[in-house]
Amino acid sequence: MRNCMSLNKTIAVLAGDGIGPEVMHQAVRVLEKLNQSEKLGLTLAYADVGGAAIDKYGEALPRKTLEICQTSCAILFGSVGGPKWECLPPEKQPERAALLPLRKHFQLYANLRPAKLYPELAHASPLRTDLAAKGFDILVVRELTGGIYFGQPKGIYTCENGEKKAVDTLVYHEHEIERISHVAFRAARARRKKLTLVDKANVLESSQLWRSIVRTLSTQYTDVMVDFLYVDNAAMQVIRRPWDFDVLLCENLFGDILSDELAAITGSIGMLPSASIADGSFGLYEPAGGSAPDIAGKDIANPIAQILSAAMLLRHSLGLEEQAAKIELAVDAVLKLGLRTADIWQEGTQLVTCSQMGSAIVDALEL
Ligand code: NAD
Repeated sequence: MRNCMSLNKTIAVLAGDGIGPEVMHQAVRVLEKLNQSEKLGLTLAYADVGGAAIDKYGEALPRKTLEICQTSCAILFGSVGGPKWECLPPEKQPERAALLPLRKHFQLYANLRPAKLYPELAHASPLRTDLAAKGFDILVVRELTGGIYFGQPKGIYTCENGEKKAVDTLVYHEHEIERISHVAFRAARARRKKLTLVDKANVLESSQLWRSIVRTLSTQYTDVMVDFLYVDNAAMQVIRRPWDFDVLLCENLFGDILSDELAAITGSIGMLPSASIADGSFGLYEPAGGSAPDIAGKDIANPIAQILSAAMLLRHSLGLEEQAAKIELAVDAVLKLGLRTADIWQEGTQLVTCSQMGSAIVDALEL
């Protein structure tokens, strides 16, 4: 198991496709500025991934790229995929052939998806104005490697009478629930100390196991307030009173759906970072959105999700809390100044390009 809060400060930088290289360039500028002024000793190791790697080497995750990731303490990932590679067989397509193997190889079982509505961007949220005005800051902690997506048996079978039946299996082992619950408790402890387990314990056996494990672990985290919410109710409550939630702990399927619902009510996918972490401090950090081929190459993408992903990396994989906070404060500062990329622009604010937004954030870093 790797522990990166020590000597190895190499970050694997995998920009990928579409807007990936454009937004990654801005995140790298931010990291380099901090590295230089604070003598952090970071090394950035660049590698090809996704469609770009298919074009060069014939595969989405070349061995050389994997080796660079293995000798790094974290991966800063852009995004992969695009129309050019959609004709490939599904298992060779960039997302399936690059991201999934990386998750599996590094056992990235905990997906952290912050969903924050900045007061300055309340207009971009589809929530009713009086609800959006209150803002919110929620962290979804989603189990990423178990549950119904992976359980066996799985398949479409033909019954004796010729009728077809489809089977998916929802299975969780105790240790899988325990390790992700610890991640969620620790995250809550570092935030507003509230943890909500989202489940379907009125129907699902697996949810009952989740509840009992979370209840037991809560005795180790007495400073964290714990409650439980059925997933159907949670889907409503996060829209009615999002400010009431701090950390939402979800099994894989529920987390997949709820994190996208929350992303939607923040108004722009271009603002949202994410982390997929393993035991120890290794993690893969990437924007919540994809490669956005519709706006790629135009210097109009929002680089903030990628820049905030770099902040998450500094915090979780390198223990550089102060520097992570500096990046987040710099983002807050440029939003307060009224700078906006096209996806979050509104009348009365200043429209800037991707690179201008990057420059403004670099300038706003309080060094
Ligand atoms: P997408 O997130 O790329 O784009 C959805 C919409 O959001 C588009 O209108 C896009 O312009 C906009 N958007 C996304 N990021 C933005 C940003 N930073 N700034 C401004 N606007 C932004 O999703 P999609 O269109 O469904 O997928 C496009 C490609 O990305 C596909 O090939 C898909 O497979 C891939 N994808 C990759 C990842 C990943 O690498 N993790 C994730 C999702 C999708």
